[in-house]
Amino acid sequence: MTYVLENLQVDGAGTLRCTPCTAPVGPAEVGYRDLAGTFDLPLSVGQSEMIAGKSSAYVLRHYACRSCGSLFDVEMLARDDAPALRQNS
Ligand SMILES: [Zn+2]
Repeated sequence: MTYVLENLQVDGAGTLRCTPCTAPVGPAEVGYRDLAGTFDLPLSVGQSEMIAGKSSAYVLRHYACRSCGSLFDVEMLARDDAPALRQNS
């Protein structure tokens, strides 16, 4: 097993696995952001509205294990954007 992120590993067969529950996430060549469960929260969750502003154009997209809900990653992006960075790009 090789750690990709704190809660994400890739096994010898090239399968991404959630570290806490060991459930398979999918093939490593696809990238976890295309495989994980996602949910969006407003920027004001991560910082005060004074800093984040009142715009709803941007969100904090959370990537999590579909089996146990453990969080893999969070990124800020425009509400309707695809993930900004692909694991394999
Ligand atoms: Zn899990």
